[in-house]
Amino acid sequence: MTGRYRRGGSLAGVPDPAHRVLSESQLATLAELGEERRAEVGEKLFEIGDASYPFIAIVEGEAAVLDAAGHEVIRHGDSGFLGEMNLLSGQTVFLTAVVTEPMRYIAVEREVLRGLLFEDASLSDLLLPAFVQRREMLQQRQGVGVEVVGPRDSAETRRLLEFARRLRLPYSWLDPVEDAEAAALVERAAPDELPLVRLPGGIELRRPSNGELSRALGIGLVLAPREEVDLLVLGGGPAGLGAAVYGASEGLDTLLIESTVLGGQAGSSRRIENYLGFPAGITGTELTSRAIAQARKFGARTATPYRAAELVPGNGRHVVRLEDGNEVAARAVLLATGAEYRRLPVEGLDEYEGLSVFYAAGPPEARLCGAQRVGVVGGGNSAAQAAIWLARGGALVTLLHRRADLTETMSHYLIEELERYGVAVRNRSEVAELRGEDGELEGVTLTDGAELPLSFLFLFLGASPCTEWLGEAVARDEKGFVLTGADGLLETSLPGVYAAGDVRAGSIKRCATAVGEGATVVRFVHERLAAAAA
Ligand SMILES: Cc1cc2nc3c(=O)[nH]c(=O)nc-3n(C[C@H](O)[C@H](O)[C@H](O)COP(=O)(O)OP(=O)(O)OC[C@H]3O[C@@H](n4cnc5c(N)ncnc54)[C@H](O)[C@@H]3O)c2cc1C
Repeated sequence: MTGRYRRGGSLAGVPDPAHRVLSESQLATLAELGEERRAEVGEKLFEIGDASYPFIAIVEGEAAVLDAAGHEVIRHGDSGFLGEMNLLSGQTVFLTAVVTEPMRYIAVEREVLRGLLFEDASLSDLLLPAFVQRREMLQQRQGVGVEVVGPRDSAETRRLLEFARRLRLPYSWLDPVEDAEAAALVERAAPDELPLVRLPGGIELRRPSNGELSRALGIGLVLAPREEVDLLVLGGGPAGLGAAVYGASEGLDTLLIESTVLGGQAGSSRRIENYLGFPAGITGTELTSRAIAQARKFGARTATPYRAAELVPGNGRHVVRLEDGNEVAARAVLLATGAEYRRLPVEGLDEYEGLSVFYAAGPPEARLCGAQRVGVVGGGNSAAQAAIWLARGGALVTLLHRRADLTETMSHYLIEELERYGVAVRNRSEVAELRGEDGELEGVTLTDGAELPLSFLFLFLGASPCTEWLGEAVARDEKGFVLTGADGLLETSLPGVYAAGDVRAGSIKRCATAVGEGATVVRFVHERLAAAAA
Protein backbone atom coordinates (compact mmCIF):
# COMPACT_ATOMS: atom_id res chain seq x y z
CA MET A 1 0.00 0.00 0.00
CA THR A 2 1.26 3.48 -0.70
CA GLY A 3 1.34 6.63 1.47
CA ARG A 4 -1.82 8.61 1.93
CA TYR A 5 -1.09 11.27 -0.65
CA ARG A 6 -1.02 8.67 -3.38
CA ARG A 7 -4.71 8.03 -3.06
CA GLY A 8 -7.28 10.63 -4.05
CA GLY A 9 -8.73 11.54 -7.39
CA SER A 10 -9.62 14.50 -9.51
CA LEU A 11 -11.54 17.41 -8.13
CA ALA A 12 -14.87 18.59 -9.41
CA GLY A 13 -15.45 22.27 -9.99
CA VAL A 14 -11.94 23.33 -11.06
CA PRO A 15 -12.22 24.99 -14.49
CA ASP A 16 -10.33 23.21 -17.27
CA PRO A 17 -7.43 25.45 -18.18
CA ALA A 18 -6.84 23.58 -21.47
CA HIS A 19 -9.15 25.68 -23.54
CA ARG A 20 -7.53 29.03 -23.10
CA VAL A 21 -6.08 30.36 -26.36
CA LEU A 22 -4.25 33.46 -27.51
CA SER A 23 -5.88 35.97 -29.85
CA GLU A 24 -4.33 36.94 -33.23
CA SER A 25 -3.15 40.25 -31.82
CA GLN A 26 -1.62 38.59 -28.74
CA LEU A 27 0.27 36.16 -30.99
CA ALA A 28 1.50 39.16 -33.02
CA THR A 29 2.73 40.90 -29.83
CA LEU A 30 4.53 37.76 -28.71
CA ALA A 31 6.07 37.31 -32.17
CA GLU A 32 7.69 40.75 -31.88
CA LEU A 33 9.43 39.85 -28.62
CA GLY A 34 10.06 36.15 -29.07
CA GLU A 35 11.69 33.88 -31.59
CA GLU A 36 9.73 31.88 -34.14
CA ARG A 37 10.79 28.24 -34.22
CA ARG A 38 9.69 24.96 -35.79
CA ALA A 39 9.65 21.49 -34.27
CA GLU A 40 8.95 18.03 -35.64
CA VAL A 41 6.85 15.24 -34.15
CA GLY A 42 8.62 13.60 -31.20
CA GLU A 43 10.86 16.57 -30.47
CA LYS A 44 11.02 17.63 -26.80
CA LEU A 45 10.31 21.31 -26.16
CA PHE A 46 11.36 21.06 -22.52
CA GLU A 47 12.01 18.24 -20.10
CA ILE A 48 11.52 17.39 -16.42
CA GLY A 49 14.45 18.69 -14.38
CA ASP A 50 15.42 21.48 -16.83
CA ALA A 51 16.37 24.61 -14.88
CA SER A 52 13.98 26.73 -16.93
CA TYR A 53 12.00 26.85 -20.16
CA PRO A 54 10.62 29.58 -22.38
CA PHE A 55 6.95 30.48 -22.68
CA ILE A 56 5.72 28.72 -25.81
CA ALA A 57 2.86 30.12 -27.92
CA ILE A 58 1.70 27.66 -30.58
CA VAL A 59 1.02 29.28 -33.96
CA GLU A 60 0.11 25.93 -35.49
CA GLY A 61 0.60 22.29 -34.55
CA GLU A 62 0.23 20.45 -31.28
CA ALA A 63 2.21 19.38 -28.20
CA ALA A 64 1.44 16.98 -25.36
CA VAL A 65 2.56 17.63 -21.81
CA LEU A 66 3.66 14.50 -19.92
CA ASP A 67 4.40 13.64 -16.30
CA ALA A 68 7.43 11.68 -15.07
CA ALA A 69 5.77 8.34 -15.85
CA GLY A 70 4.97 9.48 -19.40
CA HIS A 71 1.25 9.95 -18.72
CA GLU A 72 -0.36 12.74 -20.67
CA VAL A 73 -1.39 15.70 -18.52
CA ILE A 74 -2.75 17.99 -21.22
CA ARG A 75 -2.48 18.74 -24.95
CA HIS A 76 -2.29 22.18 -26.57
CA GLY A 77 -3.02 23.00 -30.20
CA ASP A 78 -3.28 26.04 -32.51
CA SER A 79 -3.12 29.35 -30.57
CA GLY A 80 -2.65 27.44 -27.32
CA PHE A 81 0.29 28.03 -25.02
CA LEU A 82 2.57 26.02 -22.75
CA GLY A 83 3.56 27.10 -19.26
CA GLU A 84 2.41 27.42 -15.67
CA MET A 85 3.32 29.13 -12.41
CA ASN A 86 6.99 28.19 -12.55
CA LEU A 87 7.43 30.60 -15.47
CA LEU A 88 6.92 33.31 -12.86
CA SER A 89 8.49 31.72 -9.78
CA GLY A 90 11.49 30.20 -11.54
CA GLN A 91 10.91 26.75 -10.04
CA THR A 92 12.52 23.77 -11.76
CA VAL A 93 10.56 22.23 -14.65
CA PHE A 94 8.08 19.56 -13.46
CA LEU A 95 6.84 18.24 -16.82
CA THR A 96 8.00 17.25 -20.29
CA ALA A 97 6.48 18.68 -23.49
CA VAL A 98 6.63 16.60 -26.69
CA VAL A 99 5.51 17.67 -30.16
CA THR A 100 2.59 15.55 -31.44
CA GLU A 101 1.89 17.45 -34.69
CA PRO A 102 4.53 19.46 -36.59
CA MET A 103 4.73 22.79 -34.82
CA ARG A 104 5.41 26.41 -35.63
CA TYR A 105 5.70 28.31 -32.38
CA ILE A 106 6.95 31.45 -30.71
CA ALA A 107 9.38 31.00 -27.82
CA VAL A 108 9.52 33.92 -25.39
CA GLU A 109 12.21 33.87 -22.71
CA ARG A 110 10.95 33.96 -19.13
CA GLU A 111 12.35 37.40 -18.27
CA VAL A 112 10.89 38.90 -21.46
CA LEU A 113 7.50 37.36 -20.70
CA ARG A 114 7.58 38.75 -17.17
CA GLY A 115 8.27 42.22 -18.57
CA LEU A 116 5.41 41.83 -21.02
CA LEU A 117 3.00 40.79 -18.29
CA PHE A 118 3.73 44.08 -16.52
CA GLU A 119 2.87 46.08 -19.64
CA ASP A 120 0.11 44.12 -21.38
CA ALA A 121 -3.03 43.88 -19.27
CA SER A 122 -5.00 41.68 -21.70
CA LEU A 123 -2.16 39.16 -21.87
CA SER A 124 -1.70 39.06 -18.09
CA ASP A 125 -5.49 38.67 -17.68
CA LEU A 126 -5.31 35.58 -19.89
CA LEU A 127 -2.05 34.06 -18.68
CA LEU A 128 -2.04 34.59 -14.91
CA PRO A 129 -5.35 32.80 -14.18
CA ALA A 130 -4.34 30.03 -16.60
CA PHE A 131 -0.98 29.57 -14.85
CA VAL A 132 -2.69 29.50 -11.45
CA GLN A 133 -5.30 26.98 -12.59
CA ARG A 134 -2.70 24.78 -14.23
CA ARG A 135 -0.70 24.75 -11.01
CA GLU A 136 -3.82 23.76 -9.08
CA MET A 137 -4.43 20.99 -11.59
CA LEU A 138 -0.86 19.71 -11.11
CA GLN A 139 -1.25 19.81 -7.33
CA GLN A 140 -4.14 17.38 -7.71
CA ARG A 141 -2.16 14.88 -9.80
CA GLN A 142 0.04 12.10 -8.59
CA GLY A 143 3.53 11.69 -9.98
CA VAL A 144 4.25 15.39 -10.62
CA GLY A 145 6.75 17.54 -8.78
CA VAL A 146 8.81 16.69 -5.72
CA GLU A 147 8.64 13.48 -3.71
CA VAL A 148 9.02 13.57 0.05
CA VAL A 149 10.09 10.18 1.37
CA GLY A 150 9.80 9.97 5.13
CA PRO A 151 7.95 8.31 7.97
CA ARG A 152 4.58 9.60 9.14
CA ASP A 153 5.68 9.99 12.78
CA SER A 154 8.57 12.33 11.94
CA ALA A 155 8.23 16.05 12.68
CA GLU A 156 10.74 16.70 9.88
CA THR A 157 8.47 14.92 7.38
CA ARG A 158 5.59 17.08 8.54
CA ARG A 159 7.71 20.25 8.25
CA LEU A 160 8.62 19.50 4.65
CA LEU A 161 5.07 18.52 3.68
CA GLU A 162 3.78 21.75 5.20
CA PHE A 163 6.43 23.77 3.38
CA ALA A 164 5.63 22.10 0.04
CA ARG A 165 1.98 22.80 0.64
CA ARG A 166 2.62 26.47 1.43
CA LEU A 167 4.91 26.79 -1.60
CA ARG A 168 2.02 25.38 -3.64
CA LEU A 169 4.42 22.81 -5.06
CA PRO A 170 3.01 19.74 -6.73
CA TYR A 171 4.27 16.90 -4.51
CA SER A 172 3.77 13.33 -3.42
CA TRP A 173 4.55 11.85 -0.04
CA LEU A 174 5.82 8.29 0.29
CA ASP A 175 5.69 6.69 3.73
CA PRO A 176 8.36 3.95 4.04
CA VAL A 177 6.13 2.09 6.49
CA GLU A 178 3.47 1.65 3.83
CA ASP A 179 5.38 1.75 0.59
CA ALA A 180 7.99 -0.84 -0.44
CA GLU A 181 9.71 1.48 -2.93
CA ALA A 182 10.05 4.15 -0.24
CA ALA A 183 11.31 1.59 2.29
CA ALA A 184 14.09 0.60 -0.12
CA LEU A 185 15.03 4.24 -0.64
CA VAL A 186 15.33 5.12 3.02
CA GLU A 187 17.45 2.05 3.78
CA ARG A 188 20.33 3.84 2.07
CA ALA A 189 20.12 6.83 4.42
CA ALA A 190 20.87 7.28 8.14
CA PRO A 191 17.85 8.09 10.34
CA ASP A 192 19.06 11.69 10.84
CA GLU A 193 19.18 12.17 7.05
CA LEU A 194 15.46 11.54 6.66
CA PRO A 195 13.22 12.54 5.07
CA LEU A 196 14.63 12.34 1.57
CA VAL A 197 13.35 14.79 -1.00
CA ARG A 198 13.56 13.78 -4.65
CA LEU A 199 13.41 16.65 -7.11
CA PRO A 200 12.17 16.55 -10.69
CA GLY A 201 15.11 15.31 -12.73
CA GLY A 202 16.35 12.93 -10.04
CA ILE A 203 18.34 15.10 -7.62
CA GLU A 204 18.01 13.80 -4.07
CA LEU A 205 18.26 15.94 -0.93
CA ARG A 206 18.63 14.53 2.56
CA ARG A 207 16.62 16.30 5.26
CA PRO A 208 16.92 19.68 3.53
CA SER A 209 16.06 22.87 5.39
CA ASN A 210 13.23 24.86 3.82
CA GLY A 211 15.82 27.25 2.41
CA GLU A 212 17.90 24.43 0.90
CA LEU A 213 14.81 22.97 -0.77
CA SER A 214 13.85 26.37 -2.17
CA ARG A 215 17.28 27.03 -3.60
CA ALA A 216 17.51 23.51 -5.07
CA LEU A 217 14.24 24.23 -6.87
CA GLY A 218 15.67 27.46 -8.22
CA ILE A 219 13.42 29.70 -6.14
CA GLY A 220 14.43 32.87 -4.41
CA LEU A 221 17.21 35.32 -3.96
CA VAL A 222 20.28 34.43 -1.90
CA LEU A 223 21.08 37.26 0.50
CA ALA A 224 24.58 38.53 1.25
CA PRO A 225 25.67 38.03 4.89
CA ARG A 226 25.00 41.74 5.46
CA GLU A 227 22.63 43.83 3.36
CA GLU A 228 22.00 47.57 3.62
CA VAL A 229 18.71 49.02 2.39
CA ASP A 230 16.44 52.02 2.79
CA LEU A 231 13.32 50.03 3.64
CA LEU A 232 13.26 46.51 5.02
CA VAL A 233 9.82 44.92 4.89
CA LEU A 234 9.30 41.88 7.12
CA GLY A 235 6.47 39.66 5.89
CA GLY A 236 5.21 39.02 2.37
CA GLY A 237 1.44 39.22 2.86
CA PRO A 238 -0.76 42.03 1.52
CA ALA A 239 0.68 44.63 3.94
CA GLY A 240 4.29 43.78 3.08
CA LEU A 241 3.62 43.52 -0.64
CA GLY A 242 1.70 46.81 -0.56
CA ALA A 243 4.69 48.50 1.07
CA ALA A 244 7.12 46.87 -1.39
CA VAL A 245 5.13 48.10 -4.42
CA TYR A 246 4.84 51.67 -3.13
CA GLY A 247 8.33 51.76 -1.60
CA ALA A 248 10.11 50.58 -4.72
CA SER A 249 7.91 52.58 -7.11
CA GLU A 250 8.69 55.72 -5.10
CA GLY A 251 12.43 55.27 -5.25
CA LEU A 252 13.30 53.49 -2.00
CA ASP A 253 15.83 50.66 -2.08
CA THR A 254 13.38 48.05 -0.78
CA LEU A 255 13.99 44.49 0.43
CA LEU A 256 11.17 42.19 1.51
CA ILE A 257 11.93 39.16 3.69
CA GLU A 258 9.39 36.35 4.04
CA SER A 259 9.76 33.33 6.32
CA THR A 260 7.69 30.91 4.25
CA VAL A 261 5.95 31.79 1.01
CA LEU A 262 5.10 35.15 -0.49
CA GLY A 263 1.38 35.91 -0.31
CA GLY A 264 0.72 35.56 3.41
CA GLN A 265 -2.67 34.48 4.67
CA ALA A 266 -4.31 36.12 1.70
CA GLY A 267 -2.40 33.79 -0.61
CA SER A 268 -4.10 30.80 1.00
CA SER A 269 -7.62 32.18 0.57
CA ARG A 270 -9.70 30.22 -1.95
CA ARG A 271 -11.53 33.30 -3.11
CA ILE A 272 -11.41 36.90 -2.00
CA GLU A 273 -14.78 38.40 -2.83
CA ASN A 274 -14.48 41.81 -1.24
CA TYR A 275 -11.24 43.21 -2.69
CA LEU A 276 -11.89 46.43 -4.57
CA GLY A 277 -11.89 46.06 -8.34
CA PHE A 278 -12.65 42.32 -8.56
CA PRO A 279 -16.47 42.07 -8.58
CA ALA A 280 -16.37 38.38 -9.50
CA GLY A 281 -13.83 37.66 -6.74
CA ILE A 282 -10.22 36.55 -7.20
CA THR A 283 -8.24 33.64 -5.79
CA GLY A 284 -5.68 34.55 -3.15
CA THR A 285 -2.93 33.02 -5.29
CA GLU A 286 -3.80 35.15 -8.28
CA LEU A 287 -4.15 38.37 -6.30
CA THR A 288 -0.85 37.88 -4.52
CA SER A 289 0.95 36.62 -7.69
CA ARG A 290 -0.06 39.86 -9.36
CA ALA A 291 1.18 41.86 -6.39
CA ILE A 292 4.53 39.98 -6.35
CA ALA A 293 4.98 40.62 -10.09
CA GLN A 294 4.15 44.29 -9.52
CA ALA A 295 6.61 44.68 -6.62
CA ARG A 296 9.37 43.10 -8.71
CA LYS A 297 8.49 45.27 -11.69
CA PHE A 298 9.31 48.35 -9.62
CA GLY A 299 12.59 46.82 -8.46
CA ALA A 300 11.74 45.60 -4.96
CA ARG A 301 13.81 42.56 -4.00
CA THR A 302 12.04 39.66 -2.31
CA ALA A 303 13.90 36.97 -0.35
CA THR A 304 12.35 33.70 0.90
CA PRO A 305 12.46 31.72 3.09
CA TYR A 306 14.29 33.95 5.56
CA ARG A 307 12.89 34.50 9.07
CA ALA A 308 13.49 37.64 11.11
CA ALA A 309 14.80 36.57 14.52
CA GLU A 310 15.93 39.77 16.26
CA LEU A 311 15.54 43.52 15.90
CA VAL A 312 18.55 45.49 17.16
CA PRO A 313 17.78 49.22 17.43
CA GLY A 314 20.45 51.47 15.96
CA ASN A 315 21.27 55.06 15.31
CA GLY A 316 20.36 55.85 11.71
CA ARG A 317 20.00 52.19 10.81
CA HIS A 318 18.25 49.41 12.66
CA VAL A 319 19.62 45.91 12.22
CA VAL A 320 17.42 42.84 11.75
CA ARG A 321 19.13 39.51 12.34
CA LEU A 322 17.75 36.60 10.38
CA GLU A 323 17.44 33.06 11.66
CA ASP A 324 20.26 31.63 9.56
CA GLY A 325 22.81 34.28 10.46
CA ASN A 326 22.37 36.96 7.79
CA GLU A 327 21.65 40.51 8.87
CA VAL A 328 20.01 43.50 7.21
CA ALA A 329 20.69 47.11 8.21
CA ALA A 330 17.80 49.37 7.23
CA ARG A 331 16.99 53.06 7.57
CA ALA A 332 13.35 52.07 8.12
CA VAL A 333 11.77 48.73 9.04
CA LEU A 334 8.18 47.68 8.45
CA LEU A 335 6.79 44.91 10.64
CA ALA A 336 4.19 43.15 8.46
CA THR A 337 4.50 39.66 9.90
CA GLY A 338 0.75 39.16 10.28
CA ALA A 339 -0.71 36.55 12.56
CA GLU A 340 -0.56 32.77 12.81
CA TYR A 341 -3.48 30.41 13.15
CA ARG A 342 -4.54 29.49 16.66
CA ARG A 343 -4.31 25.79 17.58
CA LEU A 344 -6.83 23.62 19.38
CA PRO A 345 -6.01 23.06 23.07
CA VAL A 346 -6.18 19.26 22.79
CA GLU A 347 -3.62 16.61 23.59
CA GLY A 348 -1.53 15.10 20.82
CA LEU A 349 -2.59 17.68 18.22
CA ASP A 350 0.92 17.91 16.74
CA GLU A 351 0.85 14.22 15.79
CA TYR A 352 -2.00 14.93 13.42
CA GLU A 353 -0.96 18.35 12.08
CA GLY A 354 -0.01 18.23 8.43
CA LEU A 355 -1.37 14.67 8.07
CA SER A 356 -5.03 14.90 8.95
CA VAL A 357 -5.36 18.27 10.71
CA PHE A 358 -4.82 21.37 8.58
CA TYR A 359 -4.96 25.16 8.83
CA ALA A 360 -5.74 25.87 5.18
CA ALA A 361 -7.78 24.12 2.52
CA GLY A 362 -6.19 24.10 -0.90
CA PRO A 363 -6.08 21.66 -3.82
CA PRO A 364 -3.84 19.06 -2.11
CA GLU A 365 -6.21 18.89 0.87
CA ALA A 366 -9.29 18.77 -1.37
CA ARG A 367 -7.66 15.87 -3.20
CA LEU A 368 -7.24 14.00 0.06
CA CYS A 369 -10.72 14.69 1.34
CA GLY A 370 -12.95 13.69 -1.60
CA ALA A 371 -15.75 11.39 -0.33
CA GLN A 372 -14.33 11.57 3.23
CA ARG A 373 -15.93 12.85 6.43
CA VAL A 374 -14.37 16.17 7.22
CA GLY A 375 -14.77 18.62 10.12
CA VAL A 376 -14.15 22.34 9.76
CA VAL A 377 -13.80 24.13 13.09
CA GLY A 378 -14.58 27.86 13.32
CA GLY A 379 -17.46 30.27 12.94
CA GLY A 380 -15.85 32.93 10.75
CA ASN A 381 -15.76 33.59 7.03
CA SER A 382 -12.53 31.70 6.45
CA ALA A 383 -14.05 28.55 8.01
CA ALA A 384 -17.06 28.95 5.72
CA GLN A 385 -14.90 29.41 2.63
CA ALA A 386 -12.93 26.27 3.43
CA ALA A 387 -16.06 24.22 4.19
CA ILE A 388 -17.64 25.22 0.87
CA TRP A 389 -14.48 24.49 -1.11
CA LEU A 390 -14.11 21.03 0.47
CA ALA A 391 -17.81 20.22 -0.01
CA ARG A 392 -17.55 21.23 -3.67
CA GLY A 393 -14.64 18.80 -3.97
CA GLY A 394 -16.87 15.95 -2.81
CA ALA A 395 -16.16 15.84 0.94
CA LEU A 396 -18.91 15.31 3.52
CA VAL A 397 -18.37 18.39 5.62
CA THR A 398 -19.52 19.27 9.15
CA LEU A 399 -18.84 22.79 10.38
CA LEU A 400 -18.37 22.97 14.15
CA HIS A 401 -18.51 26.23 16.08
CA ARG A 402 -19.02 27.42 19.63
CA ARG A 403 -21.87 29.92 19.41
CA ALA A 404 -25.64 29.45 19.27
CA ASP A 405 -25.77 30.41 15.60
CA LEU A 406 -23.49 31.70 12.86
CA THR A 407 -25.08 35.06 12.15
CA GLU A 408 -22.86 37.02 14.58
CA THR A 409 -19.59 35.83 13.09
CA MET A 410 -20.21 34.86 9.45
CA SER A 411 -21.35 36.82 6.38
CA HIS A 412 -24.92 36.14 5.37
CA TYR A 413 -24.05 35.06 1.82
CA LEU A 414 -21.66 32.40 3.13
CA ILE A 415 -24.30 30.98 5.50
CA GLU A 416 -26.51 30.53 2.42
CA GLU A 417 -23.67 28.90 0.48
CA LEU A 418 -23.07 26.41 3.32
CA GLU A 419 -26.65 25.28 2.94
CA ARG A 420 -26.42 25.19 -0.83
CA TYR A 421 -23.41 22.86 -0.76
CA GLY A 422 -24.85 20.57 1.91
CA VAL A 423 -22.47 21.49 4.75
CA ALA A 424 -23.91 20.27 8.08
CA VAL A 425 -23.59 22.96 10.76
CA ARG A 426 -23.24 22.00 14.43
CA ASN A 427 -23.78 24.93 16.79
CA ARG A 428 -22.36 25.02 20.35
CA SER A 429 -19.70 22.43 19.52
CA GLU A 430 -16.16 22.32 20.85
CA VAL A 431 -13.59 19.61 20.20
CA ALA A 432 -12.30 18.00 23.41
CA GLU A 433 -10.32 15.05 22.06
CA LEU A 434 -8.85 13.67 18.86
CA ARG A 435 -8.97 9.93 18.26
CA GLY A 436 -6.77 8.02 15.85
CA GLU A 437 -3.38 6.46 15.37
CA ASP A 438 -0.11 7.43 13.72
CA GLY A 439 -1.42 10.83 12.68
CA GLU A 440 -4.43 9.29 10.98
CA LEU A 441 -7.58 10.78 12.48
CA GLU A 442 -10.51 8.45 13.08
CA GLY A 443 -12.84 10.74 14.98
CA VAL A 444 -13.27 13.53 17.49
CA THR A 445 -15.05 13.74 20.82
CA LEU A 446 -16.83 16.99 21.63
CA THR A 447 -17.05 18.60 25.08
CA ASP A 448 -20.71 17.47 25.31
CA GLY A 449 -19.55 13.87 24.85
CA ALA A 450 -20.75 13.49 21.26
CA GLU A 451 -18.46 11.41 19.03
CA LEU A 452 -18.07 12.30 15.37
CA PRO A 453 -16.34 9.98 12.90
CA LEU A 454 -14.08 12.45 11.04
CA SER A 455 -11.02 11.58 8.96
CA PHE A 456 -9.79 15.16 8.53
CA LEU A 457 -10.09 18.33 10.55
CA PHE A 458 -9.54 21.91 9.37
CA LEU A 459 -9.01 24.58 12.03
CA PHE A 460 -9.95 28.22 11.53
CA LEU A 461 -9.81 29.54 15.09
CA GLY A 462 -8.47 33.00 14.55
CA ALA A 463 -4.85 33.96 14.90
CA SER A 464 -2.18 35.30 17.24
CA PRO A 465 0.48 37.78 16.08
CA CYS A 466 3.90 36.67 14.83
CA THR A 467 5.78 38.99 17.18
CA GLU A 468 7.46 36.87 19.85
CA TRP A 469 10.80 37.30 18.15
CA LEU A 470 10.61 41.06 18.80
CA GLY A 471 11.10 40.72 22.57
CA GLU A 472 11.18 44.17 24.16
CA ALA A 473 12.34 45.98 21.01
CA VAL A 474 8.92 47.57 20.39
CA ALA A 475 5.85 47.97 22.61
CA ARG A 476 3.12 45.36 22.19
CA ASP A 477 -0.31 44.90 23.73
CA GLU A 478 -1.21 42.10 26.14
CA LYS A 479 -1.94 39.73 23.24
CA GLY A 480 1.34 40.54 21.53
CA PHE A 481 0.03 42.81 18.74
CA VAL A 482 2.32 45.73 17.94
CA LEU A 483 1.19 49.12 19.26
CA THR A 484 1.40 51.97 16.77
CA GLY A 485 0.64 55.66 16.71
CA ALA A 486 3.53 56.73 18.97
CA ASP A 487 4.61 59.37 16.51
CA GLY A 488 2.37 59.33 13.47
CA LEU A 489 -0.26 56.79 12.51
CA LEU A 490 1.73 53.58 11.97
CA GLU A 491 5.02 54.15 13.75
CA THR A 492 5.83 51.84 16.69
CA SER A 493 7.43 52.85 19.99
CA LEU A 494 10.81 52.65 18.19
CA PRO A 495 11.28 55.55 15.72
CA GLY A 496 11.88 54.30 12.18
CA VAL A 497 10.09 51.01 12.83
CA TYR A 498 6.51 50.78 11.56
CA ALA A 499 3.78 48.15 11.67
CA ALA A 500 1.03 47.45 9.14
CA GLY A 501 -1.69 44.86 8.61
CA ASP A 502 -2.81 42.07 10.94
CA VAL A 503 0.25 42.33 13.21
CA ARG A 504 -0.81 45.80 14.35
CA ALA A 505 -2.95 46.24 17.48
CA GLY A 506 -6.43 47.34 16.43
CA SER A 507 -6.05 46.39 12.75
CA ILE A 508 -9.12 45.54 10.70
CA LYS A 509 -7.83 42.14 9.41
CA ARG A 510 -8.74 42.58 5.77
CA CYS A 511 -6.60 42.51 2.63
CA ALA A 512 -7.59 45.99 1.54
CA THR A 513 -6.72 47.61 4.87
CA ALA A 514 -3.42 45.70 5.06
CA VAL A 515 -2.45 46.92 1.58
CA GLY A 516 -3.54 50.46 2.45
CA GLU A 517 -1.48 50.50 5.63
CA GLY A 518 1.58 49.11 3.84
CA ALA A 519 1.28 51.84 1.23
CA THR A 520 0.79 54.53 3.88
CA VAL A 521 3.96 53.58 5.74
CA VAL A 522 6.01 54.44 2.66
CA ARG A 523 4.90 58.06 2.97
CA PHE A 524 6.11 58.18 6.61
CA VAL A 525 9.41 56.58 5.62
CA HIS A 526 9.97 59.30 3.01
CA GLU A 527 9.25 61.99 5.61
CA ARG A 528 11.70 60.38 8.04
CA LEU A 529 14.48 60.06 5.46
CA ALA A 530 13.92 63.65 4.29
CA ALA A 531 14.11 64.90 7.90
CA ALA A 532 17.33 62.93 8.47
CA ALA A 533 18.89 64.42 5.32
CA ALA A 534 17.91 68.02 6.24
C1 LIG B 1 -8.45 31.47 4.68
C2 LIG B 1 -8.50 32.98 4.77
C3 LIG B 1 -9.41 33.68 3.98
C4 LIG B 1 -9.46 35.09 4.03
N1 LIG B 1 -10.34 35.74 3.21
C5 LIG B 1 -10.35 37.10 3.20
C6 LIG B 1 -11.22 37.81 2.32
O1 LIG B 1 -12.00 37.20 1.57
N2 LIG B 1 -11.16 39.17 2.32
C7 LIG B 1 -10.30 39.89 3.13
O2 LIG B 1 -10.27 41.11 3.04
N3 LIG B 1 -9.48 39.24 3.99
C8 LIG B 1 -9.48 37.88 4.04
N4 LIG B 1 -8.67 37.20 4.93
C9 LIG B 1 -7.83 38.02 5.84
C10 LIG B 1 -6.58 38.53 5.12
O3 LIG B 1 -5.98 37.47 4.40
C11 LIG B 1 -5.60 39.14 6.12
O4 LIG B 1 -6.23 40.20 6.79
C12 LIG B 1 -4.35 39.65 5.39
O5 LIG B 1 -3.69 38.60 4.73
C13 LIG B 1 -3.40 40.34 6.37
O6 LIG B 1 -2.26 40.69 5.66
P1 LIG B 1 -0.86 40.91 6.37
O7 LIG B 1 0.10 41.25 5.29
O8 LIG B 1 -1.01 41.85 7.50
O9 LIG B 1 -0.48 39.51 7.06
P2 LIG B 1 -0.33 38.03 6.47
O10 LIG B 1 -1.13 37.86 5.27
O11 LIG B 1 -0.57 37.16 7.63
O12 LIG B 1 1.21 37.95 6.04
C14 LIG B 1 2.24 37.97 7.01
C15 LIG B 1 3.46 37.25 6.45
O13 LIG B 1 4.56 37.44 7.33
C16 LIG B 1 5.33 36.23 7.37
N5 LIG B 1 6.12 36.19 8.61
C17 LIG B 1 5.68 35.89 9.86
N6 LIG B 1 6.70 35.96 10.74
C18 LIG B 1 7.81 36.30 10.03
C19 LIG B 1 9.17 36.53 10.37
N7 LIG B 1 9.61 36.43 11.64
N8 LIG B 1 10.04 36.87 9.38
C20 LIG B 1 9.61 36.99 8.09
N9 LIG B 1 8.33 36.78 7.72
C21 LIG B 1 7.44 36.46 8.67
C22 LIG B 1 4.27 35.15 7.31
O14 LIG B 1 4.81 33.92 6.83
C23 LIG B 1 3.26 35.74 6.33
O15 LIG B 1 3.50 35.36 5.00
C24 LIG B 1 -8.60 35.81 4.91
C25 LIG B 1 -7.69 35.09 5.71
C26 LIG B 1 -7.64 33.70 5.66
C27 LIG B 1 -6.66 32.95 6.52
